[in-house]
Amino acid sequence: LANGDALKEKTLAMIKPDGVEGDYIDVIKKTILASGFNITLEIQLQLNEHTVKSFYAEHASKSFFSDLVQYMTSGPVLIMVLEKANAIADWRDLIGPTDSNKAKATHPKSVRALCGLDLQRNCVHGSDSPQSAVREISFFFEKSSSGQFSISL
Ligand code: ADP
Ligand code: MG
Repeated sequence: LANGDALKEKTLAMIKPDGVEGDYIDVIKKTILASGFNITLEIQLQLNEHTVKSFYAEHASKSFFSDLVQYMTSGPVLIMVLEKANAIADWRDLIGPTDSNKAKATHPKSVRALCGLDLQRNCVHGSDSPQSAVREISFFFEKSSSGQFSISL
């Protein structure tokens, strides 16, 4: 392929309320850029209960769901679209395991080891598959006929 852009992939990243509250936005964005991602879209939002329940619908039956909704609505989040080749898997690798305590033990350089607090308050989100990335990006952003992106909530 002559055009490297054709190899690029997009993923949805989010700095969760504990990450915003803990003042980790700058260090996380520096890590993202130093790892070769472009941040193509970003918006800071206060999520409401309806939005979080819909975003995390796959977890609706889990015992931690109501705590998750409370946590995710507890303060603003920063939502970003990251772009690079292999963005989805590479961002998941960079953030580390779901449980920040496990991340500290086994992936000490990961974002969740550096910024997360525990199994719930793990400071960042990343799409877990190509299907999730498409769903999650279009959950927050829509492309108009002019090619401009805007928030779709
Ligand atoms: P990930 O964010 O790594 O993809 P999941 O999709 O399994 O993890 O879970 C979504 C979010 O729900 C996690 O990032 C975390 O904030 C919270 N969570 C997951 N499992 C638990 C749990 N057992 N107890 C409390 N919160 C959890
Ligand atoms: Mg997940």
